[in-house]
Amino acid sequence: MSVMTPPGIKASGDYIEDVMSIVKAKNAAEPEFHQAVQEVFDSLRLVLQKHPEYRSSKILERITEPERVIMFRVPWFDDRGEIQVNRGFRIEMNSAIGPYKGGLRFHPSVNLGILKFLAFEQVFKNSLTTLPMGGGKGGSDFDPKGKSDNEVMRFCQSFMTELQRHIGPDTDVPAGDIGVGGREIGFMFGQYKRLRNEFTGVLTGKGLSWGGSLIRPEATGYGCVYFAEEMLKSRKDSFQGKLCLVSGSGNVSQYTVEKLLDLGAKPLTFSDSDGVIYDPDGIDREKLAWVMELKNVRRGRIREYGEKFKKAIFMPTDIKLEHNPLWNIKADCAFPSATQNEIKAKDAANLINNGCKLVAEGANMPSTLEATKMFLEAKVLYGPAKAANAGGVATSGLEMAQNSARLSWTREEVDDRLHKIMIAIHKNCFETAEKYGTPGNLVNGANIGGFLKVANAMLDQGLV
Ligand code: NAP
Repeated sequence: MSVMTPPGIKASGDYIEDVMSIVKAKNAAEPEFHQAVQEVFDSLRLVLQKHPEYRSSKILERITEPERVIMFRVPWFDDRGEIQVNRGFRIEMNSAIGPYKGGLRFHPSVNLGILKFLAFEQVFKNSLTTLPMGGGKGGSDFDPKGKSDNEVMRFCQSFMTELQRHIGPDTDVPAGDIGVGGREIGFMFGQYKRLRNEFTGVLTGKGLSWGGSLIRPEATGYGCVYFAEEMLKSRKDSFQGKLCLVSGSGNVSQYTVEKLLDLGAKPLTFSDSDGVIYDPDGIDREKLAWVMELKNVRRGRIREYGEKFKKAIFMPTDIKLEHNPLWNIKADCAFPSATQNEIKAKDAANLINNGCKLVAEGANMPSTLEATKMFLEAKVLYGPAKAANAGGVATSGLEMAQNSARLSWTREEVDDRLHKIMIAIHKNCFETAEKYGTPGNLVNGANIGGFLKVANAMLDQGLV
């Protein structure tokens, strides 16, 4: 495949910069995709010096071009009988090491560039899990917030009516992400089964009585804390008594808080798109159960926490502002678990100045490039998303294995496998960072470790 340099792009002689210019020109107006590619490319400089074959086979040009992009209309009736139209997407990014695998996001901010960044990250993340999964991502600009269950069902059925043509248990296996939890997976699975007349493991995150895996709901949050525990151990430290900041209040945040409590830490915060709650007494198990009911059953707003628990403080926020008061609370560890670019340079400065020792990313790309650089320079233990939150997709891989074998493992067995996978991912990132001359830099470790397996598989499989 020959990738032509678009007109107006000057060849600088630097392969990585040249490919980056092409990526920007060909994918204009997709800043999040540029950001994700730039971060990986910065790490790959170290690899390309040792491996000229990746350059001669144009691996960077190929790995940044999705194998397939599917974009479609999703029409549905709301409860008033009015027609609504949303846009659906599936990005099938790379299948070199397995069927496409990655979540579906339903959020009004969803667009092609955001899903391409997520699909690109997913390729490296899935490679790190040690399981045979390619990378994909999809979703819609549909907003489940404020919709009735019937509206969500009609939307999910319409979305799956088109998506089912493109997915399958050996082709592409979507899961949940922001705005897609057990309810949405259920509606989509039901429609897939009805249209295809097949009961297969085509989605992960399924209900326990119809093919789901124990620990899948907990996996991303638990996995992130397991990964962070390994980071602390590398400095002979533990979670005992650590003050922790957690953003978001959805799936990843809730189970991050649960595992932090298991390990003796003191979580202080939750947030949503309206604001932050800070509980100086700490969020204990009883308060966490209340938040789970608020978010997963009543689908309410986090500000209600401040009304229920009198010592907690609610601070309104706006993601578009240059800083978030959540990251200015004094604590030892930070777990950004809401959305992309939620930690900006000012937030990183606040965290560092307040003595934060560890940042583990439950969300995907929650730190801007500038913030990431600041954490690395300040020698904060920094667990990048594609490694730290890989426990979710790893457990989806375990769900696929159970579906193929038509059996179910116990809670302890899945948790034990998840824990071992997170330890292995940390070890891989840690050792790869050292091998390439940047000890402690888990960003390089994750990017290089994830890249090598996929790039070598692409070389083996010829020009496809
Ligand atoms: P979720 O259950 O839908 O929760 C998302 C949380 O983040 C909510 O509290 C939401 O607040 C907040 N949020 C979302 N978009 C926001 C925005 N633009 N501004 C401010 N707050 C926002 O989703 P989730 O599954 O926990 O996912 C959270 C993050 O983890 C995402 O980056 C996702 O890609 C990543 N992740 C998830 C998994 C998984 O297994 N679920 C795996 C790996 C990575 P509102 O309710 O106000 O929107």
